[in-house]
Amino acid sequence: MTERQAGKAILRLVQGDITTQKVDAIVNAANPSLMGGGGVDGAIHRVGGPTIKEECKTIVSRKGRLPTGEAVITSAGRLPARFVVHTVGPVWQGGNANEDALLANAYRNSLSVAAEHKCRTVAFPSISTGAYGFPIARAARIALSTLLAEMPRHDLDEVRIVLFMPDDLRIYSTALEQIG
Ligand code: ADP
Repeated sequence: MTERQAGKAILRLVQGDITTQKVDAIVNAANPSLMGGGGVDGAIHRVGGPTIKEECKTIVSRKGRLPTGEAVITSAGRLPARFVVHTVGPVWQGGNANEDALLANAYRNSLSVAAEHKCRTVAFPSISTGAYGFPIARAARIALSTLLAEMPRHDLDEVRIVLFMPDDLRIYSTALEQIG
């Protein structure tokens, strides 16, 4: 299963590269420094160009490092999206360090920040399941249940989860089938 209605909006799972998505906002799985890194973060800054990092620097100089689970927004430089929402997912530490709640916060706060900026289409990567090591089936259940619960609270048309790896799409789609 790759689609589910949530209020007036649709939740859709796709395989692909988040930097090519023509949506109002894409979400970046950033780190607290907001200074870029590997994985999806590196790809977003590489394709989007230097203006995104300049805005990130300004945010960090005003507010300090971004705490885990929180989200901030910048413009999207050369990306086809209008905005980039930067969030920090939890580093997996075995499951007893509040990782589940922090991952849910990252999805919830990213969606809120995008909706506050009148975004109607938002694309997420699989937050925390790369370098941060969060087990993907567990992360998928949290991502999907959080987004399905939060979407009806905002004025949205579509939330897309963009899975880079075909296997990850299968895991997310199985998780979506298992959510009642
Ligand atoms: P984290 O540090 O939060 O774990 P990573 O960027 O290491 O973030 O990985 C998060 C997910 O992003 C991984 O599943 C990885 O396959 C995926 N990813 C990497 N590049 C892209 C991209 N261009 N578009 C979408 N997803 C991507």
